Amino acid sequence: MPLQPAQLRNALATVVETDIGKDIVTAGMVKDLQSDGDDISIEIQLSSADSPLREQIKEQIEAALRQAGQEHGEGVARVNVTFSSDMRSANERVREETNPLPNVKKIIAVGAGKGGVGKSTVATLLAIGLAKQGAKVGLLDGDIYGPSMTTMLGLRSLESKTENNQLLPFEVHGIKAITIGKLVEPDRALIWRGPRAHSAFSQLATQTSWGELDYLIVDLPPGTGDVPLSLAQLLPLAGAVIVCTPQVVAQDDARRAVRMFEQLGVPILGLVENMSYFVADDGKEYDLFGRGGGQQMAAAMNIDYLGEIPIHPDMRIAADTGEPLKNWEINEAMSNAFDCVCKNLAQTASLREPNRPTLSVQ
Ligand code: ADP
Repeated sequence: MPLQPAQLRNALATVVETDIGKDIVTAGMVKDLQSDGDDISIEIQLSSADSPLREQIKEQIEAALRQAGQEHGEGVARVNVTFSSDMRSANERVREETNPLPNVKKIIAVGAGKGGVGKSTVATLLAIGLAKQGAKVGLLDGDIYGPSMTTMLGLRSLESKTENNQLLPFEVHGIKAITIGKLVEPDRALIWRGPRAHSAFSQLATQTSWGELDYLIVDLPPGTGDVPLSLAQLLPLAGAVIVCTPQVVAQDDARRAVRMFEQLGVPILGLVENMSYFVADDGKEYDLFGRGGGQQMAAAMNIDYLGEIPIHPDMRIAADTGEPLKNWEINEAMSNAFDCVCKNLAQTASLREPNRPTLSVQ
């Protein structure tokens, strides 16, 4: 008996597109799959007609199907791989074809190459800072493996509500917010992978009743996993903000995150350097981790630098006690730094033309 469709799909799911680090099935690149006896025809969609990965993908597919044939005691007589190209990236397609949140003007993802750099802290500061400047803002805690907004926004005692099968966001600190942390036990969220992570994230992203918003800030899990890909396929993004710390050792991870968003066709709105320096009570500034590393990296990568956020123990306390507005009360240098980053983001977001054509394969 020839290989069955599920066996074929499983075999194709072992073929990884090295640029985006995803298998070709998860990445939605398999556009057609036909088998006629031992003859198998596969159409692979690439983002660029002359992708240098064509030959590599073809060879990997042939090898994967031969191996599946051997494992199931079947011969695979002929594999015909054809390529088509849709010059639009994942996010351009969703921008043009579907928009589940038409009342949200700008959706901005906040990502980081690795955990612990203050991505959720910066996402919260951006959301609240933009709201302080008069915008209507929503904050979606998409860090479904380690949601922190329940604590950071002080949502623990509030009750989740739904209306007409839609989740109602919490209205706190001048913004609207939703987090998976209020919907499931946090320990369970941590073990989600692949399709379950996608469906949990997709429910949060598309079934929350935000009403009219100027900005929706999406806090993503750290790294280059499945959620950014889901986000780019689900919601039309105005762009992404990358958070990093100043150390040179942290920059490789941040670079990878930048590349991933570029690959998905999501414009980079800019880079924020967190934990840049410490401002003492006498106003004196101390460099702890090599202030300016983020700015140099942004310049080298030709992306906007949105500014630096100092490190201060009161920021950690504001996060742990769920009182983010207290960040603006720490001292003037700190509140100026937050406002400056938010103002720069509002500017770069309004200057970006979201539908500019993007060539994804470099
Ligand atoms: P990530 O989302 O990147 O994992 P978090 O935003 O959760 O990181 O921050 C990790 C920890 O560092 C939290 O306890 C947070 O309060 C603290 N933190 C983040 N940025 C700062 C800062 N600039 N000053 C002091 N503490 C900070």
